[in-house]
Amino acid sequence: MPPSPVADRLAAVRSRIASAARAAGRDPGDVRLLVATKTQDADDVRAAVDAGVDLIGENRVQELVAKAPALADRVAAGTLEVHMIGHLQRNKINQMLATATGVETVDGRTLAEALSTRCVRDGRTLDVMVQVNVSGEGTKSGVAPDDAVALAVDVAALPGLRLTGFMTIGARLTPDGEPADDATVRAGFARLRAIRDEVLASGAPGTAGARELSMGMSTDLDLAIAEGATIVRVGTAIFGPRDA
Ligand SMILES: *Cc1c(COP(=O)(O)O)cnc(C)c1O
Repeated sequence: MPPSPVADRLAAVRSRIASAARAAGRDPGDVRLLVATKTQDADDVRAAVDAGVDLIGENRVQELVAKAPALADRVAAGTLEVHMIGHLQRNKINQMLATATGVETVDGRTLAEALSTRCVRDGRTLDVMVQVNVSGEGTKSGVAPDDAVALAVDVAALPGLRLTGFMTIGARLTPDGEPADDATVRAGFARLRAIRDEVLASGAPGTAGARELSMGMSTDLDLAIAEGATIVRVGTAIFGPRDA
């Protein structure tokens, strides 16, 4: 069988990740690829999984539910992790937990407590990350940078949750409304790393494993890797433009 376009693009993205890691003096094996599957149908997502992808991210619970049957065997086998990377409403938690293995978008105590309560009841542990709005752009969710350490310490102490790290979406605009330049984008990623380091240094209960930095997408993954990303979330560079 000839390689699918998705497999070809995956290989290109993997080599781009490896080059960026080497350029930053990092081990390419320390940067994991999360494939962002929003708007892609189950067959395309399955093609990526069959090409070796072991971590995908969905933005909407409704889409996650629709694709779940195509992913269930790998999730059950423990060879595919599925993260929520979009804003999560509390009334969708039960549906989400049927398939997701992690949530990258914890942005407040109320959501964290609802996830914790549900996981304790189910006797399971969920990987969670705190989403931080490093750019302050009003269109983005996430806790404000100044509140991120306190939120992470609280989340880490909740039963049923394992705090694995931090997630952000890079700046798109400067405060003046101009497209963000590389320095602005990088400063945001550096801020997430500083928050992570502060939480690790706190020694607070449950924070010792909070090492992941999920940052960088198709357009800015190289900058994110230079600033320490351990997970990059890529959609367009693998599936093509979503509005095509
Ligand atoms: C869509 C999306 C991505 C991937 O973005 P691309 O530009 O398509 O690579 C990453 N993270 C989040 C939260 C997303 O919604």
